[in-house]
Parts: sequence; structure tokens; C-alpha cells
Amino acid sequence: MILLEDALNLLLDHIPSCNTLRLPLEKCVGRVLAEDITSTMDFPPFNRSPLDGYAVQIADIIHSSPEHPTRLTQIEAVPAGSVPCKIVSSGQATRIMTGAKIPEGADAVVRLEDTSFVNGQIEILTADKAATNICSQGEEISINEKVLTKGTLLEEGALGLLAMLGCHNPLVFDKPKVGILATGSELLSPSDAMEPGKIRDSNSYMLLAQVLKAGGDPILLGHVKDDLSSIINKLSAQPDLPVYITTGGASVGDYDFMERLFHELKIPILFKGVAIKPGMPVLAGVWNHSLLIALSGNPAASSVSFEVLASPVIRKISGLSQWKYKKSTVKLCGVFKKSSPTRRFIWAHWFIKEGTVFAEPLSYQGNGMLKSALKSNALLEIPAHNLPIEDGAELEAILLHL
Ligand code: AMP
Ligand code: MG
Repeated sequence: MILLEDALNLLLDHIPSCNTLRLPLEKCVGRVLAEDITSTMDFPPFNRSPLDGYAVQIADIIHSSPEHPTRLTQIEAVPAGSVPCKIVSSGQATRIMTGAKIPEGADAVVRLEDTSFVNGQIEILTADKAATNICSQGEEISINEKVLTKGTLLEEGALGLLAMLGCHNPLVFDKPKVGILATGSELLSPSDAMEPGKIRDSNSYMLLAQVLKAGGDPILLGHVKDDLSSIINKLSAQPDLPVYITTGGASVGDYDFMERLFHELKIPILFKGVAIKPGMPVLAGVWNHSLLIALSGNPAASSVSFEVLASPVIRKISGLSQWKYKKSTVKLCGVFKKSSPTRRFIWAHWFIKEGTVFAEPLSYQGNGMLKSALKSNALLEIPAHNLPIEDGAELEAILLHL
């Protein structure tokens, strides 16, 4: 039995590499960037106007006021997308719209609201802020600047930047395929009618959702009865996936076959048993170049141990630079009395009240129980050998949904 951190490090030391591919931008949401993006241009690409107004020479208008307006002659009008043709000289103004290129000769823009049109001439009523009403070429991004780094999760901000820079088919990581196999002779599919002594396989579907959230591509391998050759056949039918997750049979019962499977397939065992509850019975090894993680069949154990052990591994394989848990110190909401010699992760609900992050343990925390998973958005860590924990005490939590 080893510490969670040691088990995680062993898995991280053996992660398989992930292929890359180019995808059109619109298919990139939720993908991980597999290249650094260096800008080949300045942004803005030219000096432009941030508002609708008149491009002028500041020296002409500096003393303008409503009582003593400056009179200028309009020489041109430039909408966004057009290029000015005329140079602004002293006494002249170019009407300019938001986003249009500042004409040569102009060094200020007076907003339309600060002007009037009198006898065919433009009257400038104030010089206020006019000199700063110019967005300079390259003020946000300069040519050769590294704008995005490999390992970035592509969300709206990244997509906007990639589009702006003309990166229309960036290199991204392939989502790691994760085979999910439920083992247990008692298992039925969700679509099966109930039978005596049987239950439906819920682990596969919880893990499917968890794999997706971790950035993996889940492949349901179905469920299989507790029989060594059936399990081997099912796993072997989908060879070379980077990760295999199984549930059930990871303990020492008469029909727990996972350890025998590791021996039979000569899979070197990275660890056997992790000092956490739920989910203590777990085996992991490297099967050819794939990681095989055999979790307990208890639904809570399968889900929690996947979250603390396998999720970061899948995030790392997927190329994410921020693959670690999102952790926070939280204040316990309520009292937690139950003691245990083992470190625990319990389903909890975190929320913010008056600027403080709280977490409330959810009821129905039994190993075979699932109802708490519905409301859970955090795993609250209860240290080993805990004494009763008072309301408001500070604990650590892994935040599952932000
Ligand atoms: P095991 O880890 O095989 O000893 O299973 C522990 C408990 O989890 C037993 O009560 C099983 O019936 C239950 N269980 C195992 N696999 C699943 C599954 N895929 N879905 C729901 N419950 C399961
Ligand atoms: Mg079993």
C-alpha cells in the first residue's frame, strides 16, 4: 500500500505520449494546443481609431472649447475597412469611423460628440483625450511575440486570439483514448431488465463522464463476468489504447481476478493498494506501452479513486500544462465526527458565502452509494486518524466543478 502522491507519481512517470493533429479552429474547443504560437504580425496591424470622430493635428485643436471652438475643413471620410488616401495637414480633419486606419499627418482623434458642423466646417469643441484616442500598431501584440503556449486548453479566449492571428488550423493533441471495462458477474447493462442477484453497471457511465471531463476519449468496452479469460479477451479486443480503466475484482475476494490478470499477462505492477478511502483496492501497471489501472467496483470507490488517481494522468497525457487538481482550502460546513485511520476523500458540495469558500459533506457516503455524487462538486479531504472536526474548521478540497 502506498501514499496517493507516490502512486500518482508512478503513473505520471509512465504516461504514454499522445499524437498530434491539425484541426480547423471551429473543431478546436476543448482541445489542447500542441505548439507554441508566435505572432507573425503586429496587432492592431495599423494605427486605428477606437471611436467615431475626426482625425486631426493636436496642435491645431489644443485650445478648443465650446466658447472658442477650432474650425477645420474635412478632406476625406474613412469607414472601417478602408484606407485613407489623404494626408491631414494643419487646419484639416478626416472623418473617421471606429476601427479605421488613422490617416497620415493626424496625431489625435476627436470624438463625434465633441464636434459640430457649422457652415460647412467642423467645429472642435474640446481637445480632451483626443491625443490618446489612437490605438497604436502593435500595442496589444507585437510581431514575433509568443502569444500562446503548448499545453493551453483552447477555450473562447484562445480561439479568439488564434483567429486574430490567422492560425486557422492549429496543431492540437489527439484526445487520449481510455478503454473502460466493468468486471463483475452480477452486472447488467442499463438497458437490461433486472434479474435476481444482479445490478446494473453504473461505473462505466460515471467513468465515461469523468474521462470526458479529464479531456480523454472514453471507449466503453462493456462489462464482463468474473472470469480471467473473458476479461483478457475483452481487453485484448481493443489493443494499444493509451489507458485502460477497469472496475471490480481488484481486491482479494474469491472472484477478484485483476491481480491474477496482471500476473497472467506479465504486466509489471506499479503499485497495489493506495492509502485512501474509498478506493483502497487498486492495482496499476504498464501493459506494453499502456497504463492499466484496475479500480475497485464499489461505485464511490471507482469514481473517487479515478478522480484522485487517473484524472490528473489523463489530463497530463492529453497535453494539458495545467493537469494538477484544482485544490482549495475550505471551511467545513457542519461537524464531521466519523474517525478513520485512513485518509479519506468524501463527496461534498462547495459554495461561497460572504467571500468564504465552504464545503458541506453530503450524506449517503457508503461505498456502494451514488446519490451524493449527484450534488457533489468537490472531494473533501479528511486526514487520517482525524478527531471530530468542528464546524468552520479548515480542510483541503479538490474542486471538481468550478
Ligand atoms: P468488487 O470491487 O468487484 O468487489 O465490487 C464491489 C462492489 O461494487 C460489489 O457490491 C459490486 O456488485 C459493485 N460493483 C462492481 N462493479 C460495479 C459496476 N460496474 N457498477 C455498479 N456496481 C458495481
Ligand atoms: Mg466483483
